[in-house]
Amino acid sequence: MRIFTYPEAVLRAKAEPVKNIDEETRNLVDNMCETMYSAMGIGLAANQVGELKRIIVYDVNQAEAGPNPEILINPEIVLTDGDVLQEESCLSVIDYSAEVPRKEKIKVRGIDKDGNPVDIEADGLLARCLQHEIDHLNGVLFIDHISTLKRTLYNKKLKKMMKRADSS
Ligand SMILES: [Zn+2]
Repeated sequence: MRIFTYPEAVLRAKAEPVKNIDEETRNLVDNMCETMYSAMGIGLAANQVGELKRIIVYDVNQAEAGPNPEILINPEIVLTDGDVLQEESCLSVIDYSAEVPRKEKIKVRGIDKDGNPVDIEADGLLARCLQHEIDHLNGVLFIDHISTLKRTLYNKKLKKMMKRADSS
């Protein structure tokens, strides 16, 4: 699947809750996992492939443990604790990374690919990844959490990159 990139509109839209997990949902989940691995990402939200459904896939341990995709549908952050600042990037934000403030520990509630309710307690990279992907479902990008100055500089850089791509 094609990964949509900033400033494409679908990344700014709010995804809709998934009502039932049917064949179409399962296909989308499989395609999202494939897309995430081929792009060498640790997480992907449905908005990023142009589908406005509240689905995220992630795998933060693939480098050490090999691929083992996790799927979360209709995820919701129900508890947070502490604050942490760390470098982040995104498959939908080309050529950029920045330090982003996040909650240190979170509890996320959702349903798995079989429709069973799950609670996930996360810290470290997993907590960061889940917050990043759930943001996507709400039309929020990591660059929304950085300073206006940094974002303006990135927008300028992006414009230049897009101009160069157009003229080549
Ligand atoms: Zn992202």
